[in-house]
Amino acid sequence: MSEKTKIAIAHGDGIGPEIMEATLKILDAAGAKIEPIEIQIGEKVYQEGHTSGIKPEAWDILRQTKVFLKAPITTPQGGGYKSLNVTVRTTLGLFANVRPCFSLYPYVETKHPVLDIVIIRENEEDLYTGIEHQQTNDTVQCLKLISRPGSEKIIRYAFEYARAYGRKKVTAMVKDNIMKQTDGLFHDIFKQVAKEYPELESNSQIIDIGAANLADRPQNFDVVVTLNLYGDIISDIVAQIAGSVGMAGSSNIGEVVSMFEAIHGSAPDIAGKNVANPSGLLNAAVMMLVHIGQPDIAAKINNAWLLTIEEGIHTGDIFKPGVSRIKVGTKEFAEAVVGNLGHLPEKFKPVSFGKAKKITIPEYKRNIQKKELVGVDVFLDWPGTKPDELGNRLRALAGDLTLKIITNRGVKVFPEGQPETFLTDHWRCRFVHKEALIHHENPTYYPIDRRQIAELLLRLDEAGFDAVKTENLYYFDGKRSFSLGQGE
Ligand code: NAD
Repeated sequence: MSEKTKIAIAHGDGIGPEIMEATLKILDAAGAKIEPIEIQIGEKVYQEGHTSGIKPEAWDILRQTKVFLKAPITTPQGGGYKSLNVTVRTTLGLFANVRPCFSLYPYVETKHPVLDIVIIRENEEDLYTGIEHQQTNDTVQCLKLISRPGSEKIIRYAFEYARAYGRKKVTAMVKDNIMKQTDGLFHDIFKQVAKEYPELESNSQIIDIGAANLADRPQNFDVVVTLNLYGDIISDIVAQIAGSVGMAGSSNIGEVVSMFEAIHGSAPDIAGKNVANPSGLLNAAVMMLVHIGQPDIAAKINNAWLLTIEEGIHTGDIFKPGVSRIKVGTKEFAEAVVGNLGHLPEKFKPVSFGKAKKITIPEYKRNIQKKELVGVDVFLDWPGTKPDELGNRLRALAGDLTLKIITNRGVKVFPEGQPETFLTDHWRCRFVHKEALIHHENPTYYPIDRRQIAELLLRLDEAGFDAVKTENLYYFDGKRSFSLGQGE
């Protein structure tokens, strides 16, 4: 008998322990050659004072096993606690979150008989870096970080995945009509990388209408690649319209470690009632078995599961009179799958898995761009209400720079603001070179040096202004690399 593969497992919170027990029971009955090692994560660990939700010793087990089957956990709301899911994904470099969603029509009710989509979600960046600050009495900020290597890696992964698994099309979802720098970078990289895969169709959609299209006409999509937040949202939408959010599994792939989990959360509303659908975690476990080189056992489980579904043996979330036959609990569903092990589905096409496809992403090569400092945005916490008053005071303090514009929540309020614009206590004041071509169709900026910024900040401080943050303005390779204010 070949050796068992050690895997880390966590039972999680809410419905986690029930669906993990059901999943492990099926894996065991199917003869999966695994040796689970339990690690402690989640609510209990948070309560013991570990703000990251994971015990320090668990990291060693994760590094050792390199494979993690994880039940959902409850993230405590509010300050002080970090999302464990995000911590594990980012700490271990699990850059690709792969979420296959498919409909099981007509055995699971759905409006979309043809739905077979793989959502590939960037897993380490975006608003999920969790860098948030309160800056003024009225305003808090969350930093959206998008990097070139991060974007390139996930986009290449999506195209490589499509190629490896015989998919035809890759769609990017972005919002670069608004976020021209962040989503714009992702979109630009997508267009460049797409050229290297001429056999694959590629297109992009703006996330708002894209999400609507996914919900309305999912048959038009194949592989979707997108940023972290959008991917989180659309994968729940697609899983739900396919039948239930309780059905979809996911893999979080890193270069060394990989984590497998359901896409749904800990569902505290149904915890402990033996009603949760274990299929999401089971499908994740199937992905894990393929990943660790046990594709035959993965297929055996998947086929037994498909047969159970087509027999109409359904948990409450997918139970529909007329379509389903027997309503079962978590345990009974698992028993039915166990009973079907070794049998093939009769209506669905039986699945078989080959060896896991190795997807390798070439190392990122940094292309050094020429960087020129051309100005600074100084963000002020100022309780006043008259932008002209602020503008005139700042002009007097600008020294060898010039105040170009003041915006409030991104909208121009000085010079020549509009009386209707709502004002908060958070003011973005843009200082640039004196000779910059401002109020111009094609604004042109000139280099300044960092000392000018430091001196400006000193003058502002001496005049009693509270500069809560500065953001330098750069040209990269001669191109303006910051957004203009609305109305600028
Ligand atoms: P949720 O996914 O837990 O539940 C949403 C709805 O779907 C609920 O009505 C729930 O009953 C139902 N549902 C979810 N899984 C189901 C299943 N397997 N079978 C039947 N019905 C199911 O989302 P939520 O309520 O927003 O979040 C609850 C907690 O889970 C939060 O603390 C959240 O932070 C956490 N969460 C964890 C993960 C994770 O561990 N990967 C992911 C998302 C949310």
